[in-house]
Amino acid sequence: MGQPRKFSPDSVLVAEIFDSLQGEGRNLGAPSTFLRLSHCNLACSWCDTPYTWDWSRFDQASEIKQWDVDALADDLNERGPASLVITGGEPLLQAQALENLIPRLAGHFVEVETAGTIIPSHALIELVDQWNVSPKLASSQNPLKRRRKTEALEAFAKLRGAEFKFVIGDDKDLAEADELAESLGLSPESVWLMPEGTDATSINEGAKRLVPECLRRGWHLSYRLHVALYGDQRGV
Ligand code: SF4
Repeated sequence: MGQPRKFSPDSVLVAEIFDSLQGEGRNLGAPSTFLRLSHCNLACSWCDTPYTWDWSRFDQASEIKQWDVDALADDLNERGPASLVITGGEPLLQAQALENLIPRLAGHFVEVETAGTIIPSHALIELVDQWNVSPKLASSQNPLKRRRKTEALEAFAKLRGAEFKFVIGDDKDLAEADELAESLGLSPESVWLMPEGTDATSINEGAKRLVPECLRRGWHLSYRLHVALYGDQRGV
């Protein structure tokens, strides 16, 4: 976990930048630039981007590039896609830098992917077009106290257009998703179930199991297009 460190409002710690198609959720298939930020305040057992935070397995110095916000905005503005997906890691650890970066962009549609453990500032709420909130459930093996920040989840639940994505590994996860959706008062159209998996076979099997669960609740199923197409690869 990359938690206790001070982040600068003038620079962004980046793991990777690449252009691809959004592989999950409401905008699945949309051409997008992905800005993956370094560091995370959680440590999910099935994390598919451990190179953003697990410094026991990855070399921090070579995995992180520090970008000045102006230089980063220039790079993002020169790319083709009109949609920017800010992901991680946990992007909200660098919320102040994002508040400086996003106004420098050339009118991108901005999605932020977060685990929903940090309350977003009003300034950032104004700048972000879509929040993809993915609360981590029991199978992530993060202690409940660390992964469940009720005040932050309640703040996201109030945001219009916020999408809640639950990664489902087993029945316990499903029960927890039910409990959270009820306690947060989520409308069915804002909830997505997504299968856990690191290859096409596990994703497809998990997705098939989730179809009746989505139908029963009026929830959406999110595929994981990039995992199905490329498996456990970076930058796709
Ligand atoms: Fe990985 Fe995301 Fe979990 Fe952080 S919150 S450990 S980046 S899956």
